[in-house]
Amino acid sequence: MKKIYLIDVTNRDGVQTSRILLSKLAKTMLNIYLDDMGVFQSEVGFPTIRHEVNYVNANLELAEVGAIKRMHLEGWCRAVKDDVELAFKNCPKIKHLNISISTSKIMIQGKFQGRKTWKDVLNSMIEALKTAKALGAETVGVNAEDASRTDVERLIEFAQAGKENGADRFRYCDTLGADDPITIYQRIKHIADVTKFPVEMHCHNDLGMAEAVSLTGAQGAIESGVDAYINTTINGYGERAGNCDLVSTILALKFSHGLGNKINLDEHIDLKKSWRIARYASYAFNLPIPIGQVGVGANAFAHESGIHADGALKDRRNYELYDPEDVGRGEPELCETGRIITTGEYGGLKGFIHVYDKLGIHFKDDKEARKILELVQYANLHTQKPLTDDELKFVAEHPEIVRKILTLTP
Ligand SMILES: [Zn+2]
Repeated sequence: MKKIYLIDVTNRDGVQTSRILLSKLAKTMLNIYLDDMGVFQSEVGFPTIRHEVNYVNANLELAEVGAIKRMHLEGWCRAVKDDVELAFKNCPKIKHLNISISTSKIMIQGKFQGRKTWKDVLNSMIEALKTAKALGAETVGVNAEDASRTDVERLIEFAQAGKENGADRFRYCDTLGADDPITIYQRIKHIADVTKFPVEMHCHNDLGMAEAVSLTGAQGAIESGVDAYINTTINGYGERAGNCDLVSTILALKFSHGLGNKINLDEHIDLKKSWRIARYASYAFNLPIPIGQVGVGANAFAHESGIHADGALKDRRNYELYDPEDVGRGEPELCETGRIITTGEYGGLKGFIHVYDKLGIHFKDDKEARKILELVQYANLHTQKPLTDDELKFVAEHPEIVRKILTLTP
């Protein structure tokens, strides 16, 4: 049976969302956590935007040195030859790209205002795709923006053209979050039946169904005998009402009656890493995790009302579909309530050494310590919030790469 793989797009769709953003260091930490969680691919951002270039190249270096082990680091750009060329000029070592162009009549008319026909759209995608492959891309996904409002026959033509010209996947974008589970299942099944080409589901939550439509779409692809890829974001952060949530998607694939253990999810996925990544993303984005968030919200395993508390105490299966431990919760956490030494933007050597000693990291001399301290000062300035233990460790482990990540020259 074919498999479902996860492609997380927090570092592209999540960060392009209105009024929320991430530092380049935080994006890097998310890539490390996603890789550790077994996610197949991270859409790391925009290799065509200047302020992303050092970050993208630094993350490609992290993969080279083994700090990111198996996850694809993929850049997103428009399906336009110039964009692809610029992406490779900025980031020559990038190996994975997704290229995007609008396919619906309403967008072709509304965005291009008569300057582009359907044939132009197809040709632009094909030209960009061939350019990407010629410049060294190992995999390219071709994205149909607004696919859910595009005639299915056109999507077949688009996917087929991608397949014939060397693409690796077709991304079906429910850009406006307009699909429902049954419609998307039928459409994806039809497209996959005809094209026999792997499908990526990219769904938004404007109707509150992002996970449902992603999963039923993926099921349609699997039943047609092709692999499916689901685009997720951590905590569902994304444009407007958000994207398909990473943790909910994994939980549904493991525990829902219809899908649980019946569909092959990429075996590298480690659900136990959910708690850590959800909390870090919340911290880095400055957005609290909603109390009722699936799996990772404060109330996900809380019981108070008489009948529920009694039932949960007698047997937790009475009121819990899965366990806190399944999502990496349940460990007690130490929180300093008295004196604490921190290090950061204006920190000095003694405090810095004390903090790192507690992390189990020791420097051979003051010279080496000062070098890392200076980076820590810049990193703290860059993130504008206290550095986490993992961030501090990362700075000490990969100082030269961190220097690149922190270098932003307008
Ligand atoms: Zn999107």
